[in-house]
Amino acid sequence: LQLTLAVIKPDAVAHPLILEALHQQILENRFIIVQSKDLVWKRKDSEKFYAEHSGRFFYQRLVEFMSSGPMRAYILARKDAVSYWRELMGPTKVYRARHVAPGTLRAQYGLTDTRNTTHGSDSIESAMREIAFFFPEFQAH
Ligand code: ATP
Ligand code: MG
Repeated sequence: LQLTLAVIKPDAVAHPLILEALHQQILENRFIIVQSKDLVWKRKDSEKFYAEHSGRFFYQRLVEFMSSGPMRAYILARKDAVSYWRELMGPTKVYRARHVAPGTLRAQYGLTDTRNTTHGSDSIESAMREIAFFFPEFQAH
């Protein structure tokens, strides 16, 4: 089984019904929840996690948004977990998601291109790095 890091972002955690719907999607798609936690980022956590985007026009609003309230992080296990979760999320941009992938999580629950409900690692390597970022105590065997 492959691991990925999935995060329910502050916009979705703020709405109990959306949080519950996203959690149900994880279960219905037969991911194994290896670990999960609720957390709130300081601004510097947000800046560090998204350092690769520093300089992009949306960086400040992204950093501010991701440290604006509680999030829920999951270590998920499944066959092809990385690509499966990304496919379930849909395209980054919500309006694009609604057009090309209407059944996806971002299409259904996303608010804007920044407040797009979920994060998912984009490769096995980033999954390992991001799992360590969110779950420093986690040891993969
Ligand atoms: P994530 O890394 O959160 O899973 P992603 O890999 O689909 O999303 P990235 O390109 O890594 O997209 O962008 C990271 C996050 O930055 C996006 O999820 C979104 O919240 C925000 N973002 C990306 N592009 C834009 C944009 N054009 N306008 C506003 N916000 C954006
Ligand atoms: Mg990304």
